[in-house]
Amino acid sequence: MSRELLVVQRARKSFQTGKTKPLEYRIHQLKNLRRFISERQGDITEAVRRDLGKSENGTQLFETLGLEGEINLALEKLSEWAAPRMVEKNLLTISDEVYVQPEPLGVVLIIGAWNYPWAITLQPLVGAIAAGNAAVIKPSEVSSHSAKVMEELLPLYLDKDLYPVVTGGVSETQELLKQRFDHIFYTGGSAVGKIVMAAASCHLTPVTLELGGKSPCYIDKNCDIRVACRRITWGKFVNCGQTCIAPDFILCEPSVQSQVVEEIQKCIKEFYTDNPETFEDYGRIINQRHFKRLMALMEGSTVAVGGASDESQCYIAPTVLKDVTGDSKVMKEEIFGPLLPIITVSGVDEAIRFINEREKPLVIYVFSQDNKLIKRVIAETSSGALLANDCLVHFTVSALPFGGVGNSGMGCYHGRYGFDQLSHLRSCLIKQLKMEGVNSMRYPPHSAKKLGW
Ligand code: NAD
Repeated sequence: MSRELLVVQRARKSFQTGKTKPLEYRIHQLKNLRRFISERQGDITEAVRRDLGKSENGTQLFETLGLEGEINLALEKLSEWAAPRMVEKNLLTISDEVYVQPEPLGVVLIIGAWNYPWAITLQPLVGAIAAGNAAVIKPSEVSSHSAKVMEELLPLYLDKDLYPVVTGGVSETQELLKQRFDHIFYTGGSAVGKIVMAAASCHLTPVTLELGGKSPCYIDKNCDIRVACRRITWGKFVNCGQTCIAPDFILCEPSVQSQVVEEIQKCIKEFYTDNPETFEDYGRIINQRHFKRLMALMEGSTVAVGGASDESQCYIAPTVLKDVTGDSKVMKEEIFGPLLPIITVSGVDEAIRFINEREKPLVIYVFSQDNKLIKRVIAETSSGALLANDCLVHFTVSALPFGGVGNSGMGCYHGRYGFDQLSHLRSCLIKQLKMEGVNSMRYPPHSAKKLGW
């Protein structure tokens, strides 16, 4: 019997005891998860430093603060989320009790990605625990230090049987995927997303797929380009561009391209100094494979800013590429690194066309002072989310569902959406065995006389 099968069986057995049903139990586990994060902050930051070269403050800002926020929200709202939800009734059911009762699904598989190894893996776990599920946690093997710390330390805080951590690579993930789960929550690239969904279909297991894609960023020539470029530089180069919601490429009119390049160059210098390679707030590419992939993506494009690299350190400078065309190499796949291509378009019409000719992205960014133009982009395109005049911050709003559409994913989470995503919303209708007379119309014979027609 494989280790993966044993782990899933143990989680299911434990779930079936009904242990996770009482809210007090879930609250206790959520508090333990919060305690894990605060007591083990040092282990977490050291692991992320080794995985991605990130600073301590960077890890707090982009990994654990949001996670703690999600846990606190779940603790505050759990009784409200888990309560029966009364619904509007119709004439037939006017005197009945009609409501939606969220109930746990069972055993959830959470497959994490490496780019924010803690936030991405543990945030879905908050929803899973809150909704009363067991969860098998599979951190990405690519962020190996974080995976190891998670495997060693999380079981000291959470119920070991209900929330086991399984480490390993592709073969372990595939072994897990053979097992029967009640939901699979996957974060990662679209190619593996298809493998996950195919495996899930064997058991009719529902999936949430948090995928990536190329998120476009349109800059209207009439906006405050200086401010726009500050926000874009931050959103693009944080975590060396290894952020699923980073702006992937810029669309702007030819007349403002050089100004955009100039402003981004100034911001790179301001944020990361003249030498980002030695600056603590600029990290590294996760591994040599991704380093080589990114260097190859640059081929054939004109470097306007940056371009320096050091393979031995997996370092690539914040880089802007100009006059890029839609069919160039860098536009063939999600960049997921510190390369920012600029493609010139004749205006918003062409930008919308350009976006709509491609897969639906995780986010569309628009920078403009013109509210009508923003609303037009919202109306005429589709994406997981749309942000105007800023980058990334929608991720921090727990009241917004976070997720993709089409090729960028399916399903969503954060806050109550995470709870609902990992619950079964069960319809309940309780009728009394009284007042049988009012039902006579529905019983045959359905004569016109009886129906009053
Ligand atoms: P990855 O290589 O770490 O893979 C993710 C998970 O899939 C890992 O746990 C891994 O074990 C498993 N896996 C890999 N290959 C597999 C296979 N052949 N069969 C079964 N399982 C397999 O991560 P990645 O795909 O490089 O992650 C980067 C992608 O994730 C980017 O596209 C990014 O945009 C996306 N992402 C999306 C979000 C989001 O919230 N939408 C967040 C972070 C990352």
